[in-house]
Amino acid sequence: MSHGNKTEEALMRQLEELRRRIAELEAAQYEARQKEQVLQDALTIQKAILDNIPDMAWLKDRKGRFVAVNARFAEARGLTPERLLGKTDFDFWPPELAQRYVNDDLAVMKSGRRKVIEEPLVHVQGEPVWIETIKSPIYNSDGKVIGTTGISRDITERKRTAEILRELATTDGLTKLFNRGHFMEAAEHEFQRSNRYGHALSLLMIDVDHFKSVNDTYGHRVGDSVLQFLAKLLLSNLRTVDSLGRIGGEEFAALLPETGRADALVTAERLRVTVANEPIPINGGSLRVTISLGAAATSNATPSLDALIGLADAALYQAKNNGRNRVEAM
Ligand code: GH3
Ligand code: MG
Ligand code: MG
Repeated sequence: MSHGNKTEEALMRQLEELRRRIAELEAAQYEARQKEQVLQDALTIQKAILDNIPDMAWLKDRKGRFVAVNARFAEARGLTPERLLGKTDFDFWPPELAQRYVNDDLAVMKSGRRKVIEEPLVHVQGEPVWIETIKSPIYNSDGKVIGTTGISRDITERKRTAEILRELATTDGLTKLFNRGHFMEAAEHEFQRSNRYGHALSLLMIDVDHFKSVNDTYGHRVGDSVLQFLAKLLLSNLRTVDSLGRIGGEEFAALLPETGRADALVTAERLRVTVANEPIPINGGSLRVTISLGAAATSNATPSLDALIGLADAALYQAKNNGRNRVEAM
């Protein structure tokens, strides 16, 4: 009897032990599920963040394989995010372009520094767009680089605005020629260059003769249209390497690279004759104006652009004094 009791007690203990282990396992399983839920929630949150970025965003591993992409990026590639995972740039772009992207990634991983890339892209529809991409390295907890992140956005509008601003800042509103500031900047650049390489360089100062009487006779608006016409006429009689600027009211300047004194005189004379012989259309009829020109060429004795301008100005002054519709040179 006591033997039977012992067996029963042992069984009860085993049963108790089994129950305890089942409870333990259930608790562990519950904990694992809890952990998995936390992980899933974290991934869902990350995906929500990525997908709500209006720009294209992605993560790549060290080998350049996409390990996460957002909805915007997948949309642009025409694939679901899942289909994109494991692919590389070579799966989407022409080899040359893909290689450039890979090189950017390698540079980011090697330097450990962020890289901002601006590039023009020609869309399938033919509309060219500007894209800005910011690439950054990803580090693991040991501080090892394990890949890169990228964010790409369309900056076409920003580029367009910058271009408009640049144009406003550098061109003359009336004639669309270089304005004074930009002409001087370009001239300084050219002066330094020709100085360094010992190349010839000439400058022409051009002033419309008796322009006050054009305004007085026909009005300021006609005067403006005459200046616009002259700007086009002068420009079409210069080489593309020459720069032409409107540096004052009815005063222009032309910079002639690789041009010595003799050739500058020939150009100046050609401009003078062209202007003098060209009827300028004004409301219904036409009028003629003449210009005076001062030419100067650089030599060893020309220390600066200002000195060259001074010489051309002095020559122009002489041309005016000697009767106008003339070319003088220094
Ligand atoms: P010259 O150079 O032969 O000595 O005589 P000028 O009459 O051309 O010289 P001046 O410097 O005395 O006058 C220049 C005139 O150019 C005065 C000004 O009214 C006119 N002018 C300057 N800027 C503009 C402009 O933007 N539009 C118009 N319509 N006229 C202008
Ligand atoms: Mg003047
Ligand atoms: Mg004048």
